[in-house]
Amino acid sequence: MARPEQGPELGKCALCLRPDVALQRSHLMPKGVYKRLRGSTGSTHPTRILEGRAVQTSAQTWAHLLCGDCEQRFNRLGEKWVLTHGLQQNQVTFPLLAKLLTMEPTEFDEGLDAWLLRPGKQEWFEPDALAYFAVSMIWRASVSDWGQPTVYPLKLGPYREDLRRFLLGDTAFPTRAYLSVCVRTPGPVSSLTYLPETMRQDGVTSHQFLIPGFFFILWLGGNLPEHLADGCLVAGKGHPMFVGSYLEDTFGRRVHKLRHQQPPDRSRRRTR
Ligand SMILES: [Zn+2]
Repeated sequence: MARPEQGPELGKCALCLRPDVALQRSHLMPKGVYKRLRGSTGSTHPTRILEGRAVQTSAQTWAHLLCGDCEQRFNRLGEKWVLTHGLQQNQVTFPLLAKLLTMEPTEFDEGLDAWLLRPGKQEWFEPDALAYFAVSMIWRASVSDWGQPTVYPLKLGPYREDLRRFLLGDTAFPTRAYLSVCVRTPGPVSSLTYLPETMRQDGVTSHQFLIPGFFFILWLGGNLPEHLADGCLVAGKGHPMFVGSYLEDTFGRRVHKLRHQQPPDRSRRRTR
């Protein structure tokens, strides 16, 4: 449902909590990422998985959520680096992957079916920006229903406030959070995105999303398995990064299956 294009809407910013500020049109998926999804011609509508269905859509989900300062903060501390170093619009150029592939892989992760690399301190690598971006996406999905009340807001419990304070710069990355970042090698479903959603497996809760070039998994909880720390971009030795094509295979199959199962007219959603 389209909302009228009028002057700024005043309200409380969800991040800095300042009242009566002009709220921006905040997008669940940053505009820059969305543009990247549309491919080199700009005409291909990205495929998204929405409520278990694969849909091709040009719709962008937005809400009056953040003040201008906080929008810029998200851009400056996370999105900008991810967009500059991630998979580019031509769907081929991928600066971060090119650098990672110059490293000698020594560890293989069976769970993610991906190589685990530990870049450590490199001038081409900014784990802080990747972590900030991942947390900003998950947190954003937890503070509005985004017009999709059956999926959002994601329920983060007490961790939502931990993430907000981290994003605001008040605290370090939460100790009860582990983040795995997998770099997706380009494949037939490079433009597939998967907006943040919650998964529960073996008593462990994670929140995950896919954008071109990356798969992010954020685990939150008081009793997280120790091995997750070893693969955590923030807590693990050498700022671990996973690199693999397994996701392209798995999600490619899933999209193919979903497309052939669902009648297309059901994909019309209020996601403007
Ligand atoms: Zn703000």
